[in-house]
Amino acid sequence: MAYQKFNATQVFTGEQMLDTNAVLITDDLGNIESIVGKEDAGEDVQVLEGTLCPGFINAHCHLELSHLKGCIPERTGLVDFILQVVQQRHFPDEEILAAISKAEDEMLQAGIVAVGDICNNTLTIPQKKLQRLDYHHFIEISGWNPSIAQIRMEKSLGYFKAFDQLFPKHTSISPHAPYSVSDALWQEMQPYFTDQIITIHNQESTAENELFISGEGDFQRLYRQMQIDNPSFVATGKNSLPSVFHYLEAAKHVLLVHNSFTEQSDIDLIRSSPTSVSFCLCPNANKYIEQTLPPIDLLVKNDVSLVIGTDSLASNHQLSVLEELKTLHNHFPQLTTSLLLQAATYNGAIALGMEKQLGSFEKGKKPGVLLLQHITDKIGPDAFVQRIL
Ligand SMILES: [Zn+2]
Repeated sequence: MAYQKFNATQVFTGEQMLDTNAVLITDDLGNIESIVGKEDAGEDVQVLEGTLCPGFINAHCHLELSHLKGCIPERTGLVDFILQVVQQRHFPDEEILAAISKAEDEMLQAGIVAVGDICNNTLTIPQKKLQRLDYHHFIEISGWNPSIAQIRMEKSLGYFKAFDQLFPKHTSISPHAPYSVSDALWQEMQPYFTDQIITIHNQESTAENELFISGEGDFQRLYRQMQIDNPSFVATGKNSLPSVFHYLEAAKHVLLVHNSFTEQSDIDLIRSSPTSVSFCLCPNANKYIEQTLPPIDLLVKNDVSLVIGTDSLASNHQLSVLEELKTLHNHFPQLTTSLLLQAATYNGAIALGMEKQLGSFEKGKKPGVLLLQHITDKIGPDAFVQRIL
């Protein structure tokens, strides 16, 4: 087996930044062999300019919505965004499939090697069978009207079976959001969470906390417009996360997505729970929909595990983890490049249960090798990525 040796301006391992003395050694297939000092690397070292980094993990995407790129106006707020998505679901299958294929190409080009993908149908299966990227498939369930809980569950179990027989161990059932799952549906779903990786959209708008605290607010407008009735809903007087988190506690890992209006008391609750949790940031989608950004300083101060997601092309101009990092570093220059790159690699791999293969330059893994430019002091607006392996 022949080896490849790479030396660059710096090497980010997935967890730490090494200086220019480091040499990354892989086999021809891209399996990591070791990282050694220049003095021990021997001959035939390829010298590159830029930062070597493991492949990016996109922890939150909706590949099946790729055909909605550019269809939904920006900055409408979440409720009007949801109304638009629901109204625009009816496209011909060929158009949806072509958009899925193009979006996956875009992710490959952007250095993404694995995706946590939300699935409400089976339209992404033909593309995923090509196995160009690794996926965890989250079969998403929603239903605010309790009388349809059983019907929704049965339909989703059909999707679950379709994905699970092709991608065993990388498919799980997940609730959409606290404001779209009735108590009856939580009861139906809960047995499927045990020891699984589960995701949920969390605190994406202020209206979500408001609904659970007072029973009022913009979501009541959504339910009226969609003619959805949930007579059994009772406001808890608490934020949405503490109102529903107990349903998720048997999961192996919970991936909370967005967290734009997460507060210290919510984080305290998570930290007091034995369940492993990561917080997924999708800043470009937050800007697109709500013109807001998550409370990064609060999350960092609490030392929670951060991961990065692109959300869908319905609420983003591209599917690029690097573009999300640029936005974060632009708005939060106090963050270190290492913290951001770790969220985009190692932490994401753990959140999707793929850390044995992906996320860091450790012997035996095959994480993909990226070369990043213009990220040394800051992940700047002109940063770009090339796939080396
Ligand atoms: Zn989403």
